[in-house]
Amino acid sequence: MTDCLFCKIIAGDIPAKVVRETDRTLAFRDINPQAPTHVLVIPKGHHRDVAALAATDAELLAALLLEAHEVAAAEGVAETGYRVVFNTGPQAGQTVFHVHAHVLGGRDLRWPPG
Ligand code: AMP
Ligand code: ZN
Repeated sequence: MTDCLFCKIIAGDIPAKVVRETDRTLAFRDINPQAPTHVLVIPKGHHRDVAALAATDAELLAALLLEAHEVAAAEGVAETGYRVVFNTGPQAGQTVFHVHAHVLGGRDLRWPPG
């Protein structure tokens, strides 16, 4: 999608601090980190949110979640604990409508989230 920020990152038109890449996914650091580890994991194909991805390609969603774990392991937070968040819809705080898993860790995370 031409007007999608994350599609532009995938295309290399906007720079990002890439931490991992597979043929179908890209993981890069959030520009406004909310924890010592804050990485976004996205599919290279455009889907507006996690529900759309689940309905269209459940296997890619599974690959995205496995990648989220690989990011956590590479960041050294897999054992201490990490959170995977899919903000879905405006009231949940979704601002970029290209599905992305937030991988957050490296500090105590409050529950319930704000
Ligand atoms: P959400 O609010 O769940 O849609 O998450 C969007 C996330 O994208 C936010 O945490 C932003 O800080 C992050 N973000 C926005 N622009 C960029 C960018 N150019 N590079 C990396 N992360 C970004
Ligand atoms: Zn997109």
